[in-house]
Amino acid sequence: MNDTERFDILVVGGGMVGSALALGLSRQGWQVGLVEGSTREALLQPVEPAGSVDDFEARVSAVSVASQRLLEQLGAWPGLVAGRHCPYQSMAVWDGDGTGGIRFEAAELQAPALGTIIENRRIVQALFTALAGSRVELLDGVRVTGWWRSGDRRGVELADGRRPGARLVVAADGAHSRLRQWVGLPTREWDYDQQAIVCTVRTAQSHGYTAWQRFSRTGPLAFLPLLNEQGDEHFCSIVWSQDTGEARRLMALDDTGFRAELEHAIEQTLGPVEQVSRRVAFPLRQRHAKEYVAEGFALVGDAAHTIHPLAGQGANLGYGDVRVLLDELAWARQAGMNPADDLLLARYQRRRKGENLAMMAAMEGFKQLFARDEPALRWLRNAGMRWLDGLGPVKNRMAAQAMGLDR
Ligand SMILES: Cc1cc2nc3c(=O)[nH]c(=O)nc-3n(C[C@H](O)[C@H](O)[C@H](O)COP(=O)(O)OP(=O)(O)OC[C@H]3O[C@@H](n4cnc5c(N)ncnc54)[C@H](O)[C@@H]3O)c2cc1C
Repeated sequence: MNDTERFDILVVGGGMVGSALALGLSRQGWQVGLVEGSTREALLQPVEPAGSVDDFEARVSAVSVASQRLLEQLGAWPGLVAGRHCPYQSMAVWDGDGTGGIRFEAAELQAPALGTIIENRRIVQALFTALAGSRVELLDGVRVTGWWRSGDRRGVELADGRRPGARLVVAADGAHSRLRQWVGLPTREWDYDQQAIVCTVRTAQSHGYTAWQRFSRTGPLAFLPLLNEQGDEHFCSIVWSQDTGEARRLMALDDTGFRAELEHAIEQTLGPVEQVSRRVAFPLRQRHAKEYVAEGFALVGDAAHTIHPLAGQGANLGYGDVRVLLDELAWARQAGMNPADDLLLARYQRRRKGENLAMMAAMEGFKQLFARDEPALRWLRNAGMRWLDGLGPVKNRMAAQAMGLDR
């Protein structure tokens, strides 16, 4: 391969977002290349049945109904639901420093579930299985080391010396996107001075197909329901966001000490925590690219935005980007247009930026609302939650929007 224009579209990064985009584009008839640092063999390695907490991957996603629809259209959903996954019917959110709470029910929205909790590696695996039967040219097991541009052609340099090019290059290479930096798209970012501790636990009581989330001044704690192959309802994935000092203290505890802290923090809602897996802590940083596009170039997923995991929306926002870019490029394909057309890329940016910014602002507002401990504010948020909980139609409209049921 030399540095000629080889593909219509080159996607860099085969995570949950990039692999979905590549698959969708190839179905539209574009000639697509996908570069991914991991090998396909590693990504397709069979997932062993889960008998204990250590058999689950610590990183999971709460896949919204809108994201589910996209994965269905791409043909990846049957592979996902054939393995372990947990649809959840309820979501309970409450204020650990007060008495207010709110509960969302799928039944009230006439939906089979509010969303589905799935391990990230299983999502990537289902997408790579679908990719194997597609016309996407997979350049796997090789890292991108640079970026080139020559006239109206552009592409990337690979560690093995290849230089694939395309009319449009899309960066889906994650939060620390090198491509975004090489192309020179600046970000607005700030540190939360928080870390998210993630792990898997087994609890004495069934999770009841409910996503449990307790807010406190230092951050939210989520118990997200998991199911293993035998349908055991006692496993949960934990996402516990805490101020950095407190997160370090919790990470340093032995398992017995950590289990005791968890039980206390979730107010014993699911009884004793019987087992806990190895813990991993992620520093939390909000990051948003000021522009999503440049000439012949676009950002999707975490390469464009990373948000606080308090509502589990990161991957869902990435799938929102994929939906809109596919929509714009389907139209371009029919019209015989260049996939790198400036107006098309500008429209993609306009359609996505507003929604992503609104979600980021909502997460920030939520975080600030719970971070402050003034009695008046505490009263207001508790009274507000109780009030909203009693307003069925309004509450359900909000939930439908958040779950993507209205799309
Ligand atoms: C603690 C925590 C909990 C979260 N919980 C949720 C949740 O419940 N729900 C939700 O929707 N989201 C959640 N998120 C966010 C979600 O995980 C991310 O939004 C999502 O993983 C982003 O996917 P992506 O494909 O854009 O990026 P990534 O998953 O980072 O994928 C990037 C890909 O690019 C490849 N790559 C990178 N650089 C190169 C290179 N130079 N050469 C070749 N390949 C390269 C990598 O190998 C990788 O495969 C959470 C995040 C955190 C930190």
